[in-house]
Amino acid sequence: MDLDDTPDQARYRTRVRAWIAEHRHEAPPAVAGIGGSADIVERRRWQRLLAEAGLAGVMWPAEYGGAGLGPSEAVIANAELQRAGVAGIVDHIAIGDIGPAIIVHGTEEQRRRYLGPLLRGDEGWCQLFSEPAAGSDLAGILTRARPSGDGWRIDGQKVWTTLAQHADLGMLLARTDPDVPKHAGLTMFIVPMHAGAVTVRPLRQISGDAHFNEVFFDGLEVGADAVLGGVGDGWGVATTTLMYERLMAMVAFDELLQGPEQLLAPIADHPGLDDARVRHAIAEVTTQRLGMRYALYRALTALERGSIPGPEAGLGKIDAVEASRQACALIAEVLGPDALELDRLARTVGLGRIAEREWTALDDETRTLLEAFAAGVNALMEQTRDHPPIGDELRAHRRAGDAP
Ligand SMILES: Cc1cc2nc3c(=O)[nH]c(=O)nc-3n(C[C@H](O)[C@H](O)[C@H](O)COP(=O)(O)OP(=O)(O)OC[C@H]3O[C@@H](n4cnc5c(N)ncnc54)[C@H](O)[C@@H]3O)c2cc1C
Repeated sequence: MDLDDTPDQARYRTRVRAWIAEHRHEAPPAVAGIGGSADIVERRRWQRLLAEAGLAGVMWPAEYGGAGLGPSEAVIANAELQRAGVAGIVDHIAIGDIGPAIIVHGTEEQRRRYLGPLLRGDEGWCQLFSEPAAGSDLAGILTRARPSGDGWRIDGQKVWTTLAQHADLGMLLARTDPDVPKHAGLTMFIVPMHAGAVTVRPLRQISGDAHFNEVFFDGLEVGADAVLGGVGDGWGVATTTLMYERLMAMVAFDELLQGPEQLLAPIADHPGLDDARVRHAIAEVTTQRLGMRYALYRALTALERGSIPGPEAGLGKIDAVEASRQACALIAEVLGPDALELDRLARTVGLGRIAEREWTALDDETRTLLEAFAAGVNALMEQTRDHPPIGDELRAHRRAGDAP
């Protein structure tokens, strides 16, 4: 494994940097999450520019609007946008998984109809797989599609649907044959999200954002041309989609793996850094992240050689979240009750959007919820002020081999 750019990759990186330097003034603020319709309109306008520059759909074939490059170039493009502090694409699921599934399983007519608007952000998409009683056991979904005239009639409920409230189209997995083994009776559909028979209910998070939705289908009629792949081939299409999701998660890792100086910025000048235990904990977090970075490079090397992404991508996703949680817990331990100061709280426990919004722009319900949350945590922190840091106890348990 060679960790340095090849000459071609170095030239590509230089080109990406030059493009970003020239266009960064046109970018919307690089924040996590989507605050509302105005945000998504701005983010999709920027996504269109990225697509035209070949920085969205980097791995898509050129004939469908992509840059026709490899995973290393996709990582370079993501990393350079991240390093410049400039927003990337907003339709990660659409560009990362749904588009590739249409490229692999769609008819040529479907590819020509859907891929261009998807990549440019002219049409938003969502992935309608998970249901209240079918998450990990995805093949157990209950949403039914029954033959109706020349097409299909769809009834059922989906949940955790990212960005459904900003989607024009959805990729929906439904049961078309309940009398065969569960993996064999599924079909994938392309469905319109603005139809009267579709109801989208946002699920409000504590941050005030609503990234996920419940989606209800009450007799949605679609034509035969809404089928993606063959009737009964839904499991294969779903597998392709999720394989690309893992691949895209890997490509985005570089974005997740910020250096220790970025992660620990909120405590950079804190006297707590003189404490050897704190420095030890920082070293632990940093080492874990470095390990993940090298695991990513190894997986990318395999990808470049034509291998299919394996479990390392899924494991990396879990590790990335765990490392972020550890870093946040460390910051909260060092700052103590000061972590509750609004912008620090935002950085510490992930309420990023709140810090960037006017407090007054939030609705009453969200403000009350956040105030109660902050007051509760504050009271808890005051009570435990003299208590040894919780993280130390956990680490002591782990060293002793106990389950934490
Ligand atoms: C950020 C995010 C975005 C998402 N966006 C979308 C989206 O756009 N579209 C979409 O369709 N879905 C989406 N999902 C849903 C997601 O992909 C999973 O389907 C869902 O989170 C898992 O289902 P569940 O919540 O019902 O959990 P469950 O499947 O009920 O799992 C709950 C727990 O039980 C464990 N478990 C499950 N089965 C077993 C078993 N057999 N043995 C042992 N342990 C088991 C799991 O590991 C887990 O800890 C999103 C999820 C997240 C976190």
